[in-house]
Amino acid sequence: MPLAPPDSMDDCIYFTRRAGDGTIMAWVQRMPCPQCKKGRMGKPLKKNGKVDKKSPFYTCPSCNYQEQSQEHEAKLNLEIIYTCPKCSHQGETAVPYKRKLFQGVQSYIFACQKCNTIIPITKKMKDIKERGQKDEEPEPSLE
Ligand SMILES: [Zn+2]
Ligand SMILES: [Zn+2]
Repeated sequence: MPLAPPDSMDDCIYFTRRAGDGTIMAWVQRMPCPQCKKGRMGKPLKKNGKVDKKSPFYTCPSCNYQEQSQEHEAKLNLEIIYTCPKCSHQGETAVPYKRKLFQGVQSYIFACQKCNTIIPITKKMKDIKERGQKDEEPEPSLE
């Protein structure tokens, strides 16, 4: 089944759009609550109505069911629609919602299904350092 971008940002825990040599649109959809099946799990809201990204829990807005962030995120997938910067292949894929170090930068990483080029979705819009320069410390993740 082809991936469809989410209808609303409200349905996403994470959403990013990148354009450069290739293009990337990637998102993580909120999972339906395993308890009541009505709400969609997400980070709780702070008093000002903004999402509390640093909360160690995901909660269901309908029944207040809670899950630990680590446990919950292990079940989530990052869905990606991309155009490969190398071969211009247009494809879609999904990878676990977990950042890895790629050339010194915390990134979600996937491979082009056609030419196998590794394509990173770096934290922030920071440029990846040239290969071989590895003296840069990764930024600590705040999430
Ligand atoms: Zn629920
Ligand atoms: Zn490719």
